[in-house]
Amino acid sequence: MGRERLSDRESELPDRRLLFVIATPSKSRLILRGLTRRCAVCGEGDLTEGFLRLRDRCPRCGYVFERQDGHFVGAVGMNTIFTFALIAITLIGGMVLMWPDVEFVPLAAVTVAIAVLVPTLFHPIAKTLWIGIDLIIHPLEPGEAVVEAEERAPEQG
Ligand SMILES: [Zn+2]
Repeated sequence: MGRERLSDRESELPDRRLLFVIATPSKSRLILRGLTRRCAVCGEGDLTEGFLRLRDRCPRCGYVFERQDGHFVGAVGMNTIFTFALIAITLIGGMVLMWPDVEFVPLAAVTVAIAVLVPTLFHPIAKTLWIGIDLIIHPLEPGEAVVEAEERAPEQG
């Protein structure tokens, strides 16, 4: 069946779509989907507008990502801890490797680059990962996410 015929069929049957409620995926799947910037609930990958802006809800299953005000404080905290850990590893590791002739200027330059780039680049992953972690702590409520019958959530990843 070609793409044209499939879209013809969809326009003929707009009222016959069934919706399926999605159960909370396994913990490992929630984490894996979060790390790969996909919807923790259904695996949809198109969750951002631009690089940094996360959509308000999943375009596929309708899950609202910010379940309550301040929901993403956890993501900011994770991002901060991750960045500080990398800075500490860089500073301590750099000094150990260069000891006793530690060159502070290149070490400081690398550290500043990490302090600027890592939180920016990790920000989208921290958010989708936090969505997965939150779903481990607070599983889906009935009706929070649904998919159409023809388009059930994929089982992989
Ligand atoms: Zn989804």
